[in-house]
Amino acid sequence: MQQMRTGRRAVLVEPNKPLEIWESPVDPPTGADVLVAVEMAGVCGTDYHFYLGEVPMPGPMVLGHEGIGRVVECGPEATTDSAGNPLAKGDRVYWVPLKPCHRCHACTVLEDTSLCPNQSPGRFRDPRLTPFATYTDFALLPNGMTFFKVPEDTPSEAVIAFGCAMPTVLHAMERLGQIRFGDRVLVQGAGPVGLAATLVASLSGAGEVVVIGAPASRLDMAKRLGATSTIDLDVHATSADRIAAAREIMDGGADIVIEAAGKLAAFGEGTQLVARGGRYLIVGLWSAPGTTMLEPRKINNDNVRIIGSALSRPRHIFKTIQLAQRYHTQLPLTEVVSHRFGLEDAQSAIEAVGRHEPIKAVIQPGMEA
Ligand SMILES: [Zn+2]
Ligand SMILES: [Zn+2]
Repeated sequence: MQQMRTGRRAVLVEPNKPLEIWESPVDPPTGADVLVAVEMAGVCGTDYHFYLGEVPMPGPMVLGHEGIGRVVECGPEATTDSAGNPLAKGDRVYWVPLKPCHRCHACTVLEDTSLCPNQSPGRFRDPRLTPFATYTDFALLPNGMTFFKVPEDTPSEAVIAFGCAMPTVLHAMERLGQIRFGDRVLVQGAGPVGLAATLVASLSGAGEVVVIGAPASRLDMAKRLGATSTIDLDVHATSADRIAAAREIMDGGADIVIEAAGKLAAFGEGTQLVARGGRYLIVGLWSAPGTTMLEPRKINNDNVRIIGSALSRPRHIFKTIQLAQRYHTQLPLTEVVSHRFGLEDAQSAIEAVGRHEPIKAVIQPGMEA
């Protein structure tokens, strides 16, 4: 007889209260569901926003939406990953818990699953209904949730390095359109989204990549990932300062400005730094509601295009693995993961991310074993 598995979960019971570790039995997978043992869970800025109560949550929830794990059991109908590759016990997989419904206007008419309103099932409900969250020993990937096998030659750290930021950036870059060889790119923000954007812009042939951000550890990593120069927020503390510093490096502004700061004020600053004929890509304001001042005449007279981009589509999760496999030996992708925590220390992980200490933090439930 098979022994009943139990697993721990780090549960946010209420905003601003320390995460609690709950242990409960783990049901075996049925149908086409897949049960995985979590190897690494990325700690995302969004998790910190949940912790602060900035995103509504009607009940207790398990945090974490960036995961790498090993398949421990496949439901009887689960035979492949989301790309049709054969799946077996022991395979390592990467998932971001998005589950497009394929029965809505966005999914079927727009053919843009990133806009599917039903793709985060049960996200804000009871933790027993969010089995695919990643701050846990075992996650259950329900039928239809996007996940892909990670090739054995590719380190988990290289895939989770930027967390959900890399699929988000790959999607955004697609919406931006081509980066022409030699384009001058300015990235606002040096968190995981900013660093992912820096890397992709550099790999796409940008002539210059200037990154505005902090702290120094993140700016150093930005340079190792392809930034040609950086502007330190701690040195250039005012908007006027940063605009002057950026203009000194890029006379006339940047052909492409990428907003990855997550701060409303970045928008006004960014619009002033777009060159004539340039483009402004907005990626980081997903959880930054509010309004801001803008001079529309500049958009008009300078032929500026402003492009928004939310979340990602399944192919961007797949391409994140491809990028990691292709570049992990020549670029310091694994070193982006700077902080590791056990599951019992999930609270410390959240707090460290809130203080912007790590470049990227991960929770490794197996660390305590
Ligand atoms: Zn849909
Ligand atoms: Zn994330």
